[in-house]
Amino acid sequence: MLGWSQGSWVGIDDWAERMHPDDRDRVVNFCVEQSKAGIDHEADCRALKADGTYMWIRDVVHVVRNSVGDAEALIGFMFDISERKQNEEKLLRLQRELEELSYQDGLTGVANRRLLDSVLESEWASARRAGLPLSFIMLDIDCFKQYNDHYGHLVGDDCLRRVAHILGSSLLRPRDLLARFGGEEFALVLPETDLEAARQVAERCRAAISDAAIAHRASDVSHLVTASMGVATAKPADGGTPASLVEQADRRLYRAKQNGRDRIVGE
Ligand code: GH3
Ligand code: MG
Ligand code: MG
Repeated sequence: MLGWSQGSWVGIDDWAERMHPDDRDRVVNFCVEQSKAGIDHEADCRALKADGTYMWIRDVVHVVRNSVGDAEALIGFMFDISERKQNEEKLLRLQRELEELSYQDGLTGVANRRLLDSVLESEWASARRAGLPLSFIMLDIDCFKQYNDHYGHLVGDDCLRRVAHILGSSLLRPRDLLARFGGEEFALVLPETDLEAARQVAERCRAAISDAAIAHRASDVSHLVTASMGVATAKPADGGTPASLVEQADRRLYRAKQNGRDRIVGE
């Protein structure tokens, strides 16, 4: 199975040496211990093949005892378990991918609502402990229904991807989080950021969207895609909840819409 000639298996060292160095100590120690105790056992490891590659195998060992019960000999079998190992590894990889996907918005690739809620909770707690401010920006694309009506939903999807990318590129600090709140709404969580600094981040996002100059011929506000934003800041140590911070940003966003769109309200 491994390609070694039968005559090349002489002693226990051949078995130990033809094992992947990362598996050797664990497997040898375990098998020797079990054998000495006279217990049948099995262990999985990567075995060295004659061609220099490794194969996942399962060693199954039967301990033969003499008439007074002492271990006298070992009979070992090696089974090829490479296919099962491959499946296991694939399963682990898929599980990791799934975990990532379930925190990711399928359309834009940025964080989804689930990750937003969880980050908001944890940043709220950490800001409360540290006595620091936490800021939140709610952003809503203007006249997006008209955008879809005019260009079609697929171009609308593309626009959402582009806006997500633009916003993602306007963030400066590694702990800042950009998430898709839903529909054509995005949210930014800005830890350790006061209101003035958060307003500046919002301004930067607005400038970046404007610089991208995405045509919007059906907009009431401009001939380009624009967005409105509500900015709010809390000192979690003084009370409140993550939900109250989001609500305040949402109320300000509503005022930005009422005041004519394509603007930021941060007080
Ligand atoms: P306002 O300026 O007041 O925000 O107006 P609006 O048209 O942007 O807001 P409204 O809430 O009336 O419409 C939002 C639109 O966003 C309607 C919906 O079809 C669209 N939308 C939501 N999610 C998606 C999506 O995933 N893809 C596309 N293409 N459109 C979406
Ligand atoms: Mg909306
Ligand atoms: Mg909108």
